[in-house]
Amino acid sequence: MNAVTLTLGDDGILVATMDLPGRTMNVVGDTLMAGLAEAAERLATDPDVKGLVLTSAKSDFCAGGDLDNMFTWTRPEQPFEACNAMKQVLRRMETCGKPVVAALNGHALGGGLEIALACHARIAIDDPRLKIGQPEVKLGLLPGGGGTQRLPRLLGMQPALQLMLEGNDLNPQKALGLGLLTELASDRNDLMFKARSWCATHPKAQQPWDAPKFRWPGGDSRTPAALQMFSIAPSIASVKSQGNYPAVQHILSCVFEGGLLDFDNACLVESRYFAACVMSPESKNMIGSLWFQLNAIKRGASRPQGVAPSKVRKLGILGAGMMGAGIAYVSAKSGIDVVLLDTAMDAAERGKAYSQGLLDHAVKKGRSTHDKRDALLAKITPTTDYARLEGCDLVIEAVFEDRAIKADVTAKAEARLAPTAVFASNTSTLPITGLAKASVRPAHFIGLHFFSPVDKMPLVEIIVGEQTSDETLARGFDYVLQIGKTPIVVNDSRGFYTSRVFGTYVMEGIAMLKEGVHPRSIEVAGLQAGMPMPPLALQDEVSLSLGLFVADQTKKDLAAEGKPHAEHPGMSVVRQLCEAGRIGKKVGKGFYDYTEDGKQLWPELTTLYPPAAQQPEARELVDRLMIAQANEAARCLEEGVLRSVADGNIGSIFGWGFAPFQGGALQYINAMGPAAFVARARELAARFGPRFEPAALVVKLAEQGGLLKG
Ligand code: NAD
Repeated sequence: MNAVTLTLGDDGILVATMDLPGRTMNVVGDTLMAGLAEAAERLATDPDVKGLVLTSAKSDFCAGGDLDNMFTWTRPEQPFEACNAMKQVLRRMETCGKPVVAALNGHALGGGLEIALACHARIAIDDPRLKIGQPEVKLGLLPGGGGTQRLPRLLGMQPALQLMLEGNDLNPQKALGLGLLTELASDRNDLMFKARSWCATHPKAQQPWDAPKFRWPGGDSRTPAALQMFSIAPSIASVKSQGNYPAVQHILSCVFEGGLLDFDNACLVESRYFAACVMSPESKNMIGSLWFQLNAIKRGASRPQGVAPSKVRKLGILGAGMMGAGIAYVSAKSGIDVVLLDTAMDAAERGKAYSQGLLDHAVKKGRSTHDKRDALLAKITPTTDYARLEGCDLVIEAVFEDRAIKADVTAKAEARLAPTAVFASNTSTLPITGLAKASVRPAHFIGLHFFSPVDKMPLVEIIVGEQTSDETLARGFDYVLQIGKTPIVVNDSRGFYTSRVFGTYVMEGIAMLKEGVHPRSIEVAGLQAGMPMPPLALQDEVSLSLGLFVADQTKKDLAAEGKPHAEHPGMSVVRQLCEAGRIGKKVGKGFYDYTEDGKQLWPELTTLYPPAAQQPEARELVDRLMIAQANEAARCLEEGVLRSVADGNIGSIFGWGFAPFQGGALQYINAMGPAAFVARARELAARFGPRFEPAALVVKLAEQGGLLKG
């Protein structure tokens, strides 16, 4: 079966319909390009063909490059040649003197948009869900099918760079406004009609950049404005990305250098930068986890097999505070009826008002309508009455982090629930197996750990207690997907996975302070490592008092269990600041002072912890911050807290922002190589303590070969 079917109409318009065999979406690779090459050849050589309309038989137009194939490339010649071959086909198509129209029936992303850009006109169905964009940068790549050259020649440098550097997609209305689309159509019939008509009215179509007197909109790289922009843009980008995302610099280079060259030479330059991106460890890390592992998770890799798919229709939430209110919002938004229960009616109503606030803002910004807002709000019922929970498929408790209160609400809710309903706790620290003791049906008890703010954070950490059944896990998993979040599944343990490993990052930063590392150097190292926030600022956000509370609780629990406990060296610093009332951002003082003008490191920090005369190299600080996390993640895998490498990587990036270019906390070890990791971790252990002793699992891989898998 061909990837592209050609049909010649009576009007002389050849319709090329892309439908890649064996794939749910059209992706750019050899097979699709061979089909398009045939279409271009027929257009160029058949005198009966007056024009070409390119469309798709799938729900998308074309979703982008074939990453399966790209991931197998090991030599730079492979991407370089593949890019050039694609461009040759597209050039043949756009320069043969006859009109070509892209009829976008669905998403045109990445290589898909690049194909459309090589058409003389682009018409899309006016469906707000249809996505148009160049998201390559998000996987450490750049548009390599001529996109870095056609976009700025079509739109001007600034808007083109914005599209490619941010990687966000546009809906058809926005794309039309930007000049990326020629016109919109109401449905598929209208789309094809308009595409054919465009061909008929533009029999000798030519791309602007192939016209003899072509001028770049806004000017090419020689104009003073461009020279000024390019003298600062790379530095600004570099500061923002800390130099960790080479694709960003490569995109800037493609546009700048392309703006000095003719179109075909500019395309060659682009192919070279594309090859550099594909070969970079950053893109390999990101494609491996943010594409392959994420897709595997979404397809249910961590969901027990053999349990029928489920949907939550009615959800009960106990506790309408910050978390409960957020969970109510995201659930109602996914069409679920929500009962939001608190001890007092005004507290329950405040929880609902949180959704009202978010929705009012969305209406104001034009992202929602009054009707949609009212429909969503009607789905949330605030109450103090447990009887309202009757008929719930799932109840999530988000009351205070207190075992007795949690036990009390569990019993009260279960008394109202059908025996099949699932009960979940959103606890951030209390082991699920212990909480399940308050349940009369612990097999239906599970942890669903959301992150704050719930409407923004993409992850939910599902915690499986000792008695949680497979069916309960599958139903929890289905619910997380139903509300559009990404689930990772972990076994019960103190701090679960995310809080436990995240803690090693901030505590390592705090330990450095105690050793005499200058606080500013610690913060800079956090950013250089690619973390979204530096460690001391982050501890201020979550509050030092919470950190202390959890540490003391852990100490108490372990003592009760008769287990040894070694306190992290950074903990004494946290205690000292807490004693001085500096418990974090919420009181305006922690490691930083917070004023209306912003925040600055507390000047007394360097008096309390005088910086050593000899300051360590930045590289060492970065290594410590990252290896502390990666090693703890490996221990989680070794202890069976983590059930898969994919969950470990995605959980780290989505849960606490572990440097995405590293591909996640476990990929960090794989990319470095277990042997090199073990050697470096042992050096650090010798100098800073046993917390750096490499996880036995990694030591074994270092000795026997192989990578973290499964
Ligand atoms: P919060 O203090 O904002 O809200 C708790 C709510 O529970 C309050 O509205 C309170 O009135 C209500 N409540 C207390 N006792 C109740 C009872 N007996 N019956 C019904 N309602 C009762 O707290 P939060 O930040 O929303 O945290 C709630 C839970 O979520 C905690 O277990 C916390 O550990 C966990 N959690 C918090 C975060 C976070 O970032 N805040 C993140 C993940 C998990």
